[in-house]
Amino acid sequence: MEIIHVSAECYPVAKAGGLGDVVGSLPKYQNKSGHIAKVIMPMYRTKFLYENQFSVVGKGAFGLANYWFDYTIIKETTNRLGFDLYLVDIFGLLDREKVYGYDDDSVRFTAFQIAVVDWISKWEHRPDVVHVHDHHTALIPFMMQNCFAYKHLATIQTVLTIHNAEYQGWMGWDNSNYIPDWDKYKWGMLEWDKKINPLASGIKCAAKVTTVSSGYLAELKYNANGLENLFEYEKGKCVGILNGIDEEVWNTATDTYIESQYSIEDVEEGKAANKKVLCDLFNLDASKPLIVFIGRLVGEKAADLLPQTISDAIYYIHGSMNFLILGSGEPGIEFQLEQLKSRFVGYYNSQIGYNEKLSHQMYAGADFLLMPSRVEPCGLNQMYAMRYGTIPIVRNTGGLRDTVKDFGEPNGYGICFNQASVGDITYSVYRAVELYKDPERLNEIVEQIMQIDNSWENSAGIYIKLYNS
Ligand code: ADP
Repeated sequence: MEIIHVSAECYPVAKAGGLGDVVGSLPKYQNKSGHIAKVIMPMYRTKFLYENQFSVVGKGAFGLANYWFDYTIIKETTNRLGFDLYLVDIFGLLDREKVYGYDDDSVRFTAFQIAVVDWISKWEHRPDVVHVHDHHTALIPFMMQNCFAYKHLATIQTVLTIHNAEYQGWMGWDNSNYIPDWDKYKWGMLEWDKKINPLASGIKCAAKVTTVSSGYLAELKYNANGLENLFEYEKGKCVGILNGIDEEVWNTATDTYIESQYSIEDVEEGKAANKKVLCDLFNLDASKPLIVFIGRLVGEKAADLLPQTISDAIYYIHGSMNFLILGSGEPGIEFQLEQLKSRFVGYYNSQIGYNEKLSHQMYAGADFLLMPSRVEPCGLNQMYAMRYGTIPIVRNTGGLRDTVKDFGEPNGYGICFNQASVGDITYSVYRAVELYKDPERLNEIVEQIMQIDNSWENSAGIYIKLYNS
């Protein structure tokens, strides 16, 4: 079976979050199982572009509103990612340093999608499935079915995976001329709540819709940033498939980002060595439990609760733990987290920004990873943490609920709480500190979580069954 993944992110080419991890690994595992999976994404100006070899495999042009754009498709020539990688270059639109965050993102990603559909329309053969990811690519099923120039693609099956339904790519109807000449009787397939809503359009037009955990799919029926009724209406085509982790990248025995590689046999010494390096780097005390947070500093991740939680925990639990934060996001939260540094010298530190290497060092060197998320479609951090022997402290929601079981329950191994509130998180930190005082139980849990199988093998197979259906 030939599967074409279309995405705005793909690790290690460009990554802003979990979407990049998934599109950088799922196709590799689909190829390993004997299928042909390829990835098409925008050509940003990232390091990967300059450090690898590419050849031109396609060219074309299209109109968008009153403008005419040329596009070029380049292919990475060495197959170093384990799948064919194609980048779409549109001069002046996609060739920027960041993935998102520009005022013209609607134009950029609509143009990207048109170029992808236009290029596929020129192929002599047809792929079996076009698999699109999140709102940046969710207009593709509509275009393949309703744009006059591409209607011959309508028989190709499409799958939409929703990694995050909070962002939907809304556009005003005045932008309807961005989409190549389309059948105006089909306007309803673009609209939700009086706007063009690319994510809603993808849900309506794709043959199948997946979310990245079953727990998240269940939650979307009552909390989907306005799309609740649509998820209820389309539930027959929706399936939750849990993300896996790329064990070639996230492997404590081979990870070159970390100071000391380790495996389950020498996990105690391995983690202690990594913790020491991390604590020295950030002026923390390696004899205390180290609790870390890695992620986007936004309300969705409940990052706004971190400053108060950290100061309450340090005061009320008498400084018996250390905190380290890595992330970037809302300026107000970044500012508050930076301010805390001078208040809690030796107890707390943070690095504002994106740092892939440091994230690996933190998964390896920490004792606990905190994820108080208000919304968590799947969450990869808790899976990486567990693979690295770091105990997750998570709110019971979405994918976190599906992957972490409280250590108070039979066979449990994490710390879970229900409310995204300072009180509940602080109490969970207290439970972590207490657990840390019992090294035997702690090590038992560490060994247990390192053995949990969150690999792609299982989930990649479920996707293939879905395509076949
Ligand atoms: P998201 O909602 O952001 O996609 P996920 O848990 O699905 O959340 O995935 C987050 C991914 O991004 C993980 O690989 C995590 O390690 C990484 N990540 C998030 N923030 C940072 C950061 N500031 N520096 C390095 N890696 C980060």
